[in-house]
Amino acid sequence: IESKLPKVGTTIFTTMGKLAYQYDAVNLSQGFPNFNADSKLLKLVQEAISEGYNQYAPMQGIYSLREIISEKIENLYGHSYNPENEITITASATQGIFTAISTFVKPNDEVIIFKPAYDCYEPAITLCGGVIVPIQLLDADFKIDWENFKAAITPKTKMVIINTPHNPTGTILSEQDMLKLQYILEDTNIILLSDEVYEHLVFDGKTHESAAKFQGLASRSILCASFGKTFHVTGWKMGYCAAPKELMLEFRKVHQYVVFCVNHPVQHGVAQYLKNPKNYIGLNTFYQQKRDYFLNAIQNSRFKISPCTGTYFQILDYSSITDENDISFAERLIKEYKIASIPISVFNLDNQDNKQLRFCFAKTEETLDKAAEILNRI
Ligand code: GLN
Repeated sequence: IESKLPKVGTTIFTTMGKLAYQYDAVNLSQGFPNFNADSKLLKLVQEAISEGYNQYAPMQGIYSLREIISEKIENLYGHSYNPENEITITASATQGIFTAISTFVKPNDEVIIFKPAYDCYEPAITLCGGVIVPIQLLDADFKIDWENFKAAITPKTKMVIINTPHNPTGTILSEQDMLKLQYILEDTNIILLSDEVYEHLVFDGKTHESAAKFQGLASRSILCASFGKTFHVTGWKMGYCAAPKELMLEFRKVHQYVVFCVNHPVQHGVAQYLKNPKNYIGLNTFYQQKRDYFLNAIQNSRFKISPCTGTYFQILDYSSITDENDISFAERLIKEYKIASIPISVFNLDNQDNKQLRFCFAKTEETLDKAAEILNRI
């Protein structure tokens, strides 16, 4: 059989998750909370099921959910999206991203991505016959070299994908970065795909710089967001995309034939729950405490730590422990030490190995204690 994705295997999240399970390791690999969501949210979804919202939802998502999302974006980022034709509920941000890429990328179109890059962008681009134009983030602090970016733009550039807060590095784009991006994209027709699934996980008093905040970016952007990350329900696989109506019209043409519509009772529950901003505003503090708890517990380990500014991922540099490559080291940590993480090389340009592992700290203190006890022994 001729593969359309000859270079793609099984995702690192599946591989490491499976090994973690097999060896009964403390699992800080795939990103998901190991605690339950707010019981109020669970109850709202249960009620929606009991009330009979169990048939197809409207293709674009229920109106009340799109309306409250529109209000939330306007309050936080000052940009108004019309719920009627500029917001669509998706079965996870991953589906939103896939749909956005397949809606706009044609064969030979170039798509600029920044490496290390989350793993779902490239296969989608390849399946559309697009050309991936990777730009490596700067080594020291994972910043974007904007001159490099500018030089990578050609008449064939169709799309740029950014991700802030950034998975797997835990860094964020600053206002300065966004202004530079806006300036460089001015007078082009380039579409910006802005993956903002960790928008509510930004620490140390910093703010999330959504593409929606910048008029010159918002007018060319598809924003992708996730309820899984925000409400501790990654298994519900629900998110949304927001974009100007010309882009959203095309997006929905594809969306309707990919999933048609998404989980109906969950939409009702989330729409109710989103009405109270307290249900997501405190998330920064909640996860900052987890980050600090984890980092404090491993401060005397042999790992080099540069605290993340966003997401629920912390990169640890193990170069002072061994020069083993990160995939084999990550596997050994599972088998010998019973702790699972994600090796960063799989996301890097040419799979460059910088001796870095990613640990997810969206875990109970009990789990973080167990993890720290192990990491301090390595
Ligand atoms: N976003 C999750 C992570 O980075 C993985 C989700 C998945 O496995 N597709 O860990």
